[in-house]
Amino acid sequence: MANITTAPRGTQDIITTESYKWQFIEKMALENAALFGFKEMRTPTFEQMSLFKRSVGDDTDVVQKEMYEVRAEKGKDLYGLKPEGTAGIVRSVIQNNLLKGALPLKTCYVTSCFRHERPQAGRLREFHQFGVELFGPGSPSADVEVILVAKNLFDMLGLKNISLNINSIGCPECRKDYHAALKAYFEQYKDKLCPTCLERLDKNPMRILDCKSPVCSEIAKGAPVVTDYLCDECKEHFDGVKARLKALNISFEVNPKIVRGLDYYTKTVFEFISTDLGAQATVCGGGRYDGLVEQLGGDPTKALGFAVGLERLLLIMDAQGVTIPTPEVCDLYIASIGEDASIKACELTNMLRAEGFYIECDLMDRGVKAQMKYANKIGAKYSMVIGDSELESKKARLKDMTSGEEIEVALDESLTKKLYDITLSGQINKLTDEASADGLYELFAKGFNK
Ligand code: ATP
Ligand code: MG
Repeated sequence: MANITTAPRGTQDIITTESYKWQFIEKMALENAALFGFKEMRTPTFEQMSLFKRSVGDDTDVVQKEMYEVRAEKGKDLYGLKPEGTAGIVRSVIQNNLLKGALPLKTCYVTSCFRHERPQAGRLREFHQFGVELFGPGSPSADVEVILVAKNLFDMLGLKNISLNINSIGCPECRKDYHAALKAYFEQYKDKLCPTCLERLDKNPMRILDCKSPVCSEIAKGAPVVTDYLCDECKEHFDGVKARLKALNISFEVNPKIVRGLDYYTKTVFEFISTDLGAQATVCGGGRYDGLVEQLGGDPTKALGFAVGLERLLLIMDAQGVTIPTPEVCDLYIASIGEDASIKACELTNMLRAEGFYIECDLMDRGVKAQMKYANKIGAKYSMVIGDSELESKKARLKDMTSGEEIEVALDESLTKKLYDITLSGQINKLTDEASADGLYELFAKGFNK
């Protein structure tokens, strides 16, 4: 039995010293998507198992090997933890009649995903994705818009060396010929393919191209490529996508080997690859899924999207030394000696927090020395000590924890403005002149009381 204080294999805690990085990338991802008009959706962590079978696909590794099944009661409905974000979003879009509103419909999400894979760097059993889904348009411009959302995010974060690979895997029409060609090719290696791929041979031979077994993937290297089998419409669409990417000066490579691991894709598929990720090189995968909405019971609606793996995004940022803004630092620590001073500290803390300052006071009933040690540990910018004499004089010394400089401040409402002036100027000895500080204080107060 695993130790109960050990998290399940392949999962990761996001602890207090790390969470700001997640808050930052999620904020950037959502804000960037909003620039394109994508609005967030949140869907359940589990969905009916049959939803994943019908969308992601019965023959995919994800459904066949990687799903976490959830059964609330013996013999009752079988659910699955979501292995990706699209199926739930499409289900919700249909259920909530969102396609009856204005088209295109632009949605995005941040979610945990669950896949029972072999854990390694950049490959977890619970991981996080940011994704967008665009419903309605069949135009190549839509493909490029979706690609641009991802590219813009990487640019905004200052990432380098992320390359775009694209492919077209055609529509059900042109895929008939391609499937026949693949079948004929793989038939020659029937005795070497893994048992799963043998089963895929008749039903879904494209899935063999995505098999992780070394033997199957070696055989797959010589397989016919899908781009040689595209129908006129798919070819024209793909040309339209490439022409627009060129016009926008977005460098890309056509990689006819990309098939993606999920069954629902049609026409354009794409991946953003980073050289900073080792074996798990893909940071973002996406494409069109023109048949999925109808397949899940909605009105026929063209659609497309992508998902970025957030753990992999953070790995790239780390490797490239991208700085993430550090979280707020405590503006002021109010230390106190004795019961009455502790009450006063509470009161002042509350008053200043209401104005938007980050303030802490003693909660541990510690002596003043230990309180100051804590103020140092959390990196408080300023501190003050309140004892009997401060209570009596209604004044205290406000200390700059970096320079050691002190000034006297009154322990009343005027402290708010004083602290504002000081934190704005950054230093006690650089107090802004009263007039300009007054104006800024007004603005500041307005901002927090909105
Ligand atoms: P891979 O080829 O690396 O297995 P995939 O094709 O299975 O990826 P998608 O289903 O397209 O991946 O998911 C989109 C993104 O989610 C991937 O590009 C990756 O960044 C991330 N991702 C997928 N599986 C995992 C995982 N097990 N752990 C961490 N991130 C993952
Ligand atoms: Mg995978």
